[in-house]
Amino acid sequence: MKLAQQLHFPVTPRGAGTGLSGGAVPVFGGLVLYFDRMDKIVDYDKKNLTITVQPGVITNRINDYVKGDGLFYAGYPMSYESCTIGGNVAENAGGGKAIKYGVTGRYVMGMEMVTPAGDIMRLGGKRLKDVTGYNLIQLMVGSEGTLGIFTEITLRLIPLPGASIDLMVYFTSIDDAIAMVPEIMTKVNILPTALEFMDRLSLEITSDFLGETIPQRDAGAMLLITIDGADSARIEADYEAIGELCLEGGALDVLVADTPAKSEKIWKVRRNVHEALRHRSPHTCSEDIVVPLASIPEMVRHIRKIEERFGVLIPTFGHAGDGNLHATVLKNSEWSAETWSNRAQEILKALYADCASLGGTISGEHGIGSKRKSYLHLVCDEPSIRMMEAIKSALDPGCILNPGKVVDSLRGSSHPA
Ligand SMILES: Cc1cc2nc3c(=O)[nH]c(=O)nc-3n(C[C@H](O)[C@H](O)[C@H](O)COP(=O)(O)OP(=O)(O)OC[C@H]3O[C@@H](n4cnc5c(N)ncnc54)[C@H](O)[C@@H]3O)c2cc1C
Repeated sequence: MKLAQQLHFPVTPRGAGTGLSGGAVPVFGGLVLYFDRMDKIVDYDKKNLTITVQPGVITNRINDYVKGDGLFYAGYPMSYESCTIGGNVAENAGGGKAIKYGVTGRYVMGMEMVTPAGDIMRLGGKRLKDVTGYNLIQLMVGSEGTLGIFTEITLRLIPLPGASIDLMVYFTSIDDAIAMVPEIMTKVNILPTALEFMDRLSLEITSDFLGETIPQRDAGAMLLITIDGADSARIEADYEAIGELCLEGGALDVLVADTPAKSEKIWKVRRNVHEALRHRSPHTCSEDIVVPLASIPEMVRHIRKIEERFGVLIPTFGHAGDGNLHATVLKNSEWSAETWSNRAQEILKALYADCASLGGTISGEHGIGSKRKSYLHLVCDEPSIRMMEAIKSALDPGCILNPGKVVDSLRGSSHPA
């Protein structure tokens, strides 16, 4: 980094490259710092319930490493088999279990990092509480490789739940499905581990891809609900109560998976949706807009109007419990690549504007990167953007580290001076 400062060349950190906002793409060339071989578990401290790892560790390895001791790292995204923990911290990734366990940032207790100026610094440690000065760890979490380079990360571990059960529930409409989300929490008093949803279109495309038929012909939406706890006996009453509540709320059917094989069958549809959409159209825009929970049905209605207006399909699925929607724009097969690249910008603008009008924002987990940088003003006011630019300018005045991502520097520069 010292050399990069001296010679003014850009440096872009890169984990596994699974990011969906172009964060690891070196848009101004220069050096790519690839963490593939920084993949060591540095310290596993069972007494303090922490694990310290290098950034290139594939996220899934952490749980493989600690599960034998009844421990669990809960902040992982759904891409955990291929992404790295460094990329997760940089994106503040969140996954299907965020509703109960929260996202990556909740588990980051400490880190070693290299500043854009080339200084090595340590933040936090193994302390569960720390209000000593500004919260620099949480400034770095989600900074998308633009403020510092993580070289070691200390994560908090929690007890591994002893049992979990999944429910697959079909509804005739998105409205009925989403209305169940607060009901489950207030009437059954349960915070589910996962609360995913898929609309009719994404169900159809994924079922086609898997060569299966949707068990409920009239299904307009599906909820996938997971609950976990210390043992099956304790969660049995809970899942029965949730099933009954859903049926009272108009569910067409409730399928229960209480064995790993049945669970795999239920999750197969949700896990394959991304792949199925890519198969249907190699050109897609994978979005991750967020709206307040109760606005999900309204946002889906906006999405249907955008589909009609532009002549595209936008299957939508995601984390119903977090209001986080993966609206995935598929290229109209009759469009040329050039038409698609122009129209996609207009479609995204319409999607983001509708999302903002409902009090939502443009990214819940994939970040801004280079892909959404020019839309930031739709959801962040001027003083907020200026504050972000001031932070970037203060820490990286030469715009050396991952230039062209998130925001420019205060002087409006997006690349090394
Ligand atoms: C099928 C699929 C499913 C997905 N599901 C989810 C999901 O459920 N939730 C979710 O949040 N995301 C999801 N993602 C997106 C992606 O997996 C996450 O953003 C992940 O955190 C990226 O990790 P990575 O190692 O691939 O990072 P990369 O893509 O390589 O990089 C991402 C960002 O991190 C920065 N970075 C990487 N390493 C470091 C480091 N050591 N120091 C500083 N900055 C660094 C890069 O500069 C870049 O800005 C999904 C992606 C796919 C393809």
